[in-house]
Amino acid sequence: MDNTALWKLSYGLYVVGVKKEEGQFGGSIVDAVAQVAGGDKPVLVLASMKNNLTNALIKNAGQFALSVLPANVDPFVVADFGFQSARDVDKWANVPYSLKDGLPVLDCAVSFLRCKVLEFKEFETHSLFICEIVDAQNTGNTAKPLLYADYQENMKAASGEAFKKFKETGKPPAEKKAQWRCPMCGYVYDGDVPFEELPEDWACPLCGVGKDVFEKVE
Ligand code: FE
Repeated sequence: MDNTALWKLSYGLYVVGVKKEEGQFGGSIVDAVAQVAGGDKPVLVLASMKNNLTNALIKNAGQFALSVLPANVDPFVVADFGFQSARDVDKWANVPYSLKDGLPVLDCAVSFLRCKVLEFKEFETHSLFICEIVDAQNTGNTAKPLLYADYQENMKAASGEAFKKFKETGKPPAEKKAQWRCPMCGYVYDGDVPFEELPEDWACPLCGVGKDVFEKVE
């Protein structure tokens, strides 16, 4: 058997958010996720490693939220949820997130699902959770979803670097400021004052067009 043949199966990368204790959440990166039935009560299967805390938390809580990562996700997010245990750190404290019906969802997600565990089956290393998708929403982020193969090829090294930096400094990377570009001359605003807070009569320092024509760079 050539296990590399399995690498050609396509997966995405997702972040599970699950209740730990009152007001506290655990979670981890998962790739083995698939929707296996549609209709009014869509069914999803998710495999999670048995020795991960997330596995025990899912069994305990019986439900979780799944954030679908965007292709342009900050590599630190993958490191934060993939390279350390929620036994040791509050992973959610390091990333921007919002609560959706009481469960944490990453602000960068392209969509999120809320899943209720129907049953699970134990394998040697993993548990397979069979879940009903009880809610699913797009977030408005129009980026493409991140594929596991693309992560392996293009992002793994950057995630390693981001994690190394996090361990050295003890701080997650600062949130990236949105950039604004002048569509006339291409000037990109990079001042300390957030673009949104510039006065209404502020104008492009290169070509003089007004603030209102600037475009947000995604
Ligand atoms: Fe300009």
